[in-house]
Parts: sequence; structure tokens; C-alpha cells
Amino acid sequence: MNENLQIRTFKKTGHIEVICGSMFSGKTEELIRRIRRAEIARQRVIVFKPKIDNRYSEFEIVSHNEQSYPSVVVEDASEIPEKSFDVEVIGIDEAQFFDNNLIEICQNLADSGRRVIVAGLDQDYRAMPFEPMPQLLSVAEYITKTLAVCVVCGAPANRTQRNSDSDNKILVGATDHYEARCRLHHVVNSEKFIQSH
Ligand SMILES: [Zn+2]
Repeated sequence: MNENLQIRTFKKTGHIEVICGSMFSGKTEELIRRIRRAEIARQRVIVFKPKIDNRYSEFEIVSHNEQSYPSVVVEDASEIPEKSFDVEVIGIDEAQFFDNNLIEICQNLADSGRRVIVAGLDQDYRAMPFEPMPQLLSVAEYITKTLAVCVVCGAPANRTQRNSDSDNKILVGATDHYEARCRLHHVVNSEKFIQSH
């Protein structure tokens, strides 16, 4: 047990669930659905999101279909255990914006009997694995891949197209910078953009 883990240990088995996919695939919507069901079951819940993500709201997670749920904004994943002291179900949105220390933190929370539900992008705009999601996928008990719809052909899409010249891996927000694309229509080089409109 990590000595930094300032949380109560529940006498039951915990686990990790990962919800991953491209942008516009409904990850946050699915996270909110699971959290609301846990609430109906009278379980104590808390939802975290990284400080970098302030697209819609500082104190809520908000899905693209405008569902929302109150969330605690943290600058670093190391803040999550102490804020989860007496909580049974922990939701974490936009997990790809946390450091790799999120992996051990999720493991410790699950080891202590928590249900940990992690949602995040599994690939960046180049279709490369987006850490720490690959590691979380490997240690999770349950994995859900959500698919969006390719804006070019309408096929199921698991990639995120960036329609911007920025080379920065993290370009938060602005829905109009991104589109869901299938494997066939996803392009990395901005000079080769396939116009969907
Ligand atoms: Zn397509």
C-alpha cells in the first residue's frame, strides 16, 4: 500500500473501468451515466477533472451533448486520494491530461476497495497512444471503447482529426479544431486535410 494513500480502505474488492475513444464518441456522457447509476444505488461518488480542461465549466464535467455533473478540479492526480477519503466510486474525466502518476493512484484506489471509472482519449490527433491511457487499459478490469461517427463517410470513427496547424499535442477545447474520422479519412499532415464541409 502506498504510504501516500490517505484514504480509508473498504473491505471489498475494488476495480478499474476505462472508457476510451476519440473526441465526440460519448466518453463523458458514459461516465456521467455510470456515476448517476451509482448515486441511485446510494453510493458515495466524486468526479475529478484536470485543471487544463476548462472548455465548458470550471466545476462540472460536460459532455458534447450538454449533460453535466459536478466535478472537482485538480492540478495533479496526487490530489485525488486525499479528496476521496470516504468515497466509494471515483470518476476521472479527461484522464489523458494527467501525468503517468495517475496509473499508480488508480491502482491504489482500486486496491483499497474503490470502483474507479476513468474516461479519456486513447489516441492523440496523430493516432498515437495517449499516455497514461495505454497503461490504464492494461491494468483495468473493464474496458469500453466508444466510437464516434466519421464526418466524411459516416463510418464508425475511433480517431480524432485536428484541423489546425499547431504541432502541440495538447490543444484543448475549441470543438471546431477537431473532427471524428475513421481510419481511412484520418490524416495527420494539415496540408492534406480532407474537407468535410
Ligand atoms: Zn470515414
